[in-house]
Amino acid sequence: MTTVLLTGGAGFIGSHTCLVLLEAGHRVVVIDDFSNGSPEALRRVSELARLGSWRQLAPEQWAAGEGQPARLTLLKGDVRSPQDLDRAFEDGGGGDSGIDAVLHFAGLKAVGESMGQPLRYWDVNVVGAVRLLEAMGRHGCQTLVFSSSATLYGITDRVPIPETAPLQPINPYGYTKAAVERMLADVAASTPGWRIALLRYFNPVGAHPSGRIGEDPNGRPNNLFPFLCQVAAGRRQQLEVFGGDWPTPDGTGVRDYLHVMDLAEGHGRALEVLQAEPPQLLTLNLGSGCGHSVLDLVRSFEATNGLTLPYAVVDRRPGDSAISVADHREAERRMGWRTKRSLADICRDGWAWQSANPEGYRGSDRQPGRSLIQAQPVS
Ligand code: UDP
Repeated sequence: MTTVLLTGGAGFIGSHTCLVLLEAGHRVVVIDDFSNGSPEALRRVSELARLGSWRQLAPEQWAAGEGQPARLTLLKGDVRSPQDLDRAFEDGGGGDSGIDAVLHFAGLKAVGESMGQPLRYWDVNVVGAVRLLEAMGRHGCQTLVFSSSATLYGITDRVPIPETAPLQPINPYGYTKAAVERMLADVAASTPGWRIALLRYFNPVGAHPSGRIGEDPNGRPNNLFPFLCQVAAGRRQQLEVFGGDWPTPDGTGVRDYLHVMDLAEGHGRALEVLQAEPPQLLTLNLGSGCGHSVLDLVRSFEATNGLTLPYAVVDRRPGDSAISVADHREAERRMGWRTKRSLADICRDGWAWQSANPEGYRGSDRQPGRSLIQAQPVS
């Protein structure tokens, strides 16, 4: 059994990956500041993984699982804080050096916001990664999976985009991802023994098929899929399609949408490969290799769920590109991973989550602490 630390593990991709790791038999320690994640997500993950009883550690810590140590431990903490990280490695790992690998999800991810608040992005995304690497050094952990992004490729006409394409991000969010990738490459080159995977996500969407966990954006969603789900639920009047004059078959933007469970399984595979092979720096696109336009997604969502989605075509969004599709062959070659779920699966599962949780986790308990703990039997 491997013990894995997930930074930002209470967020969208982190929570789904947490479930995949628990189901694979690993122990998971999550550190999250709940700025864009919910302890309720992990409570539900522990239910889905059938971890059984709950145990309160402290007001903002809990653990779930059969026996000791807990299979899933959640700590409220900030990745920029050396103390919080030390606590995660020491307490969370059940003793120092208990953590075998880290999956680093914690970070800010809204492109538009990053243009208005660049320092915040450099602080959380870059300083956070520096602090994490320092903590890993202190605790003798050298296995890391980093959440990178296809946003690194910037605006390119290349279809599909291979990992070797030039990195030319065009906003602070993208610059911070590029900076962390660079830093990790420098660390791997300077110190023997590092096992690092840089996973460049394309467009992760959908939800766990149970409808119990899914994406729960703060405020108005920036991204297409959660926005479309909220239109379907009646929370938003209509979808604005950003541009109908792109050089694509139907004039709307084309993206590589992948089911979040496929992405979560990709993390599980990356971890297995890093642990099985000699130290290396692995850089992989995670995408389906298929492009779908905005209108393809709208039509698939309508057909799959028997709904009609009102939409209007408006001006292009600044900074968007016509097409972004992964060359996904390297991930298949290096770790035998490819997406298994279709666009219809994405639409079905995303709607299952949205329709069962119209307010996301807010209807439950977004705050760590009392009511969450009280609702659970304490063993
Ligand atoms: N998009 C849209 N309306 C929205 C949000 C997004 O038409 O409300 C389009 C956007 O122009 C792009 C695609 O949907 O072509 C995916 O955008 P998203 O923000 O989800 O991801 P991105 O690929 O930009 O990271």
